[in-house]
Amino acid sequence: MEENQYIYGNGTEIFISSKIAMIIQTNWNLSKYFFSWLDDPRLQANIDAILPLAEDFAKKYQNIIKTFTTPEQVLAYYADYEKMSHEMGTGGVYLSYLQSLDTQDNAVIKKMGELECIFIEASSKLLFISQEWKELGYEKIMSFANNPLLKDYKNALVSKADNLKYLLGEREEFVLNEKSRALGVVEGLREELTNSYSFEIEINGEKKTMTEEEIRSLRTSPDREIRQKSYESLRTVYNTKQAQITLGNIYSGIVKDWASDVKLRGYKTVMEPRNTSEELENEVVDILIQEVQTAYPLFARFIEAKRKLLGLNTFYNYDTTAPLSTIEKEFSFEDSMKLHLDTMKDFDQEFYDYSIDMFESGRIDAFPKYGKRGGAFASYRQGESSFVLLNHTGKLRDVSTLSHELGHATHGHLSQEQKPAVYDSPLPLAETASIFNEMLLSEKIRKELSVEEYKEFLNEKLSDVFATIFRQIQYITFERRAHEAIFSGQELTYHDFNRMWREEQVKMCGTNMKHDVPAEEESTWSMIPHIFASPFYCYAYAFGNILVFALYNRYQKEGTSFVESYKDILRAGGSRRPKDLLAEHGFDITSPKFYRDAMEEVEKMVVEFEGLVEEK
Ligand SMILES: [Zn+2]
Repeated sequence: MEENQYIYGNGTEIFISSKIAMIIQTNWNLSKYFFSWLDDPRLQANIDAILPLAEDFAKKYQNIIKTFTTPEQVLAYYADYEKMSHEMGTGGVYLSYLQSLDTQDNAVIKKMGELECIFIEASSKLLFISQEWKELGYEKIMSFANNPLLKDYKNALVSKADNLKYLLGEREEFVLNEKSRALGVVEGLREELTNSYSFEIEINGEKKTMTEEEIRSLRTSPDREIRQKSYESLRTVYNTKQAQITLGNIYSGIVKDWASDVKLRGYKTVMEPRNTSEELENEVVDILIQEVQTAYPLFARFIEAKRKLLGLNTFYNYDTTAPLSTIEKEFSFEDSMKLHLDTMKDFDQEFYDYSIDMFESGRIDAFPKYGKRGGAFASYRQGESSFVLLNHTGKLRDVSTLSHELGHATHGHLSQEQKPAVYDSPLPLAETASIFNEMLLSEKIRKELSVEEYKEFLNEKLSDVFATIFRQIQYITFERRAHEAIFSGQELTYHDFNRMWREEQVKMCGTNMKHDVPAEEESTWSMIPHIFASPFYCYAYAFGNILVFALYNRYQKEGTSFVESYKDILRAGGSRRPKDLLAEHGFDITSPKFYRDAMEEVEKMVVEFEGLVEEK
């Protein structure tokens, strides 16, 4: 498909080649899949049906679940439950898509509000479900999990049983649930407070006020002074005594609550609640952390090479995110699409076909629009087609994002053969197809780039690897220290958190990197929403990235014969625990070698990057 032509029509592009003509749409065609608009009577009917659906389900299953004796009953229960959940969810999915397209649309916001009220009412009618499963008990649920008739639901049942181990009595759960609302206020306080922050910066003599996202985006500026000022601006806000006292107390409050949960429910370690929900064994997570820490010197080598490439005497933390030059290749949406499609065509026909279908059927919303949600996402659920939202502006990063999100979309498509209860992959597996797609694409892109562009590309790629693997583990080791200290009864303040954060940071960066503030003013931990909202969540990103290195390594060695095995991993959705699923395909995630192989791949890239210094 060399001599393709692209002709713009009315919001629709027409793509013609000598052999095929395809019409691609760059706006979501939601009416084809959902409703015509807010006033579509079918939408109202869908919303009106939510409460009756919950009531009918309750009528049929209240006081019944706890008496289940045969696998047939469980099978019928799942069929009803899945049908109800699917019907209940459709209106909400549609409204959330509308809201993503225009976050300011008041009619949509209002409708969403109505729907949320109904949802809360419906879910209170369904509270009996988890309680009755609990009454049914661990042994009974496990016997169902091992029944061949229920093999499609095995992992859902095993997870249910696993979580039961940590459930307390009905009365205790009720009390904890009531009391948990106070913790919601604490986390809400952090969000509201930090969302209210605004950041001042002076650029070329002009004073500007920015949001946190805007000020952060300046950290990749080629102008060192701007990068430094963006750090300064963040510190000016986060380092005030009020902010430090408030965020320090919020964090220690959240950690104390977590610690009391660990104690009351009898988890073995402070990280076990997270490991249970991510379906990873404690030993696996420990090995992951250990092996990444062992590879930390790779990051120090990267910044040392970068220091030389940038021609700096001293390397500061705000130089980590610096580009190597100011040149930037532009990619039109057509360029991006073509690069992605060519990559998929070389890789696998089904991946290619599904991407084509996404482009042709109006399930990719490509360009920024006023009021449209920022960033990019892919969305899918069982029984429905995948949707992708992008804000394509023509940067190299946008090409990778397109491939990344289409990877998610195709993963969502391949796992359609799973039942809804086990459709979604657990987080450690959820980024597999997306990052794998990016790896495939980068091989393709590197051939399109000039020598200078390629240097920048390698710089960005390595920065990504360090951000998504190494830094996530650094977050975790900080969290683990803070949690373990508080769990053992120590009282910590922001002074301690600042110091701990810096110590963990130095472990990763080495001593060659200078910091913009002294250790006692190190407030970066207080800027990371994840450690407040979802403790220990970040290691799943590191795991996901390492897994893709392992998969990609196998693909390079085995070529096309590995593709079916890879697709089987994706097709499995959430039907197997990561350890078991990956073992079936020859990956032993309990072995340090699995992580070392990935780190070797990172080292190869670092060596290549170091080579740029000699060329210079
Ligand atoms: Zn993703």
